Amino acid sequence: QAAQFRAERNLPSVTRDGVRIHLHMNAGLQSDMAHLDALGADGVGLFRTEFQFMVSSTLPRLETQQELYKAVLDAAGGRPVVFRTLDIGGDKAVPFLQHEEEENPAMGWRAIRIALDRPVLLRYQLRALMGAAAGRSLSIMFPMIADVAEFKAARKIALKEMERFERLGLKGPVDLQIGTMLEVPALAWQLDSLLELVDFVSIGTNDLMQFFFASDRSNPRLIDRYDLLSPAVLSFIRMVVKACDRAGVPVTVCGEMGGRPLEAMALIGLGLRRLSISPMTIGPVRRMIRSLNVRQIENYILDMLQSPDHSLRVKFKDYARDHS
Ligand code: PEP
Ligand code: MG
Repeated sequence: QAAQFRAERNLPSVTRDGVRIHLHMNAGLQSDMAHLDALGADGVGLFRTEFQFMVSSTLPRLETQQELYKAVLDAAGGRPVVFRTLDIGGDKAVPFLQHEEEENPAMGWRAIRIALDRPVLLRYQLRALMGAAAGRSLSIMFPMIADVAEFKAARKIALKEMERFERLGLKGPVDLQIGTMLEVPALAWQLDSLLELVDFVSIGTNDLMQFFFASDRSNPRLIDRYDLLSPAVLSFIRMVVKACDRAGVPVTVCGEMGGRPLEAMALIGLGLRRLSISPMTIGPVRRMIRSLNVRQIENYILDMLQSPDHSLRVKFKDYARDHS
């Protein structure tokens, strides 16, 4: 099977009715970058920068960070890469950051909350990213943004770092795109003001769903309790995608949801045209896309969004089977 998917890596990810779906991959290590060519991905939609910090016993120096980011951009060879700033804390402990025990670490002092409280950490990371992207485009996004004020504060720090590059005559990125993860439900109720400020939105379904259902993403007892293919989740995602489309802001799903063919089919039916998924799922999802008729699945999903079902999984399975 793996060999078959490899053979299909250069086939366009276009649906039967001619809709191009952008297939990006998630990465976190320099070695992941080899998958880009091997799998024929369009770029990296989520580079998890925290991995480098998690495997290091001391805070990685600016130069060390910059080396990794530069190697990643070199390996991408002009294909887009979205770097997510540090998403530490919660379940992603780093040895060098003093951290009190928390009762609910996933909802605790993590990600952008740490970055805004310890701005030096964020500033150094941004400096490393900007240095690495000298003469090229740079895309960054912030994790766990819960309200527009947090995004504004983080963006301000990034813009200040850009100014610093100019002021000091340092060679920085030729272009900076700043986006946000949407993984805290509250952010979806501030889309009007948010979409005026962001260059792109990336829906992180892993965290989003644990907060959406108040259901721990790592508790095995709860794994099957709620289904992402429920009318509630799908309506929520549709609302976000429609708002982004209206505002002309590119929107991606970068959680694990997009890497499962049935779920990816539903997401495309909700209007998503960009997915960032783990490398090994690119082949199966591309194959699904090439057998899909977008017009049909869109109509099919719309009819079901108001249904009171716990899950639409069985219906989607039937649909997928009936439409090969
Ligand atoms: C997510 O929450 O969906 C996501 C992509 O980020 P992570 O899995 O790294 O928390
Ligand atoms: Mg997350």
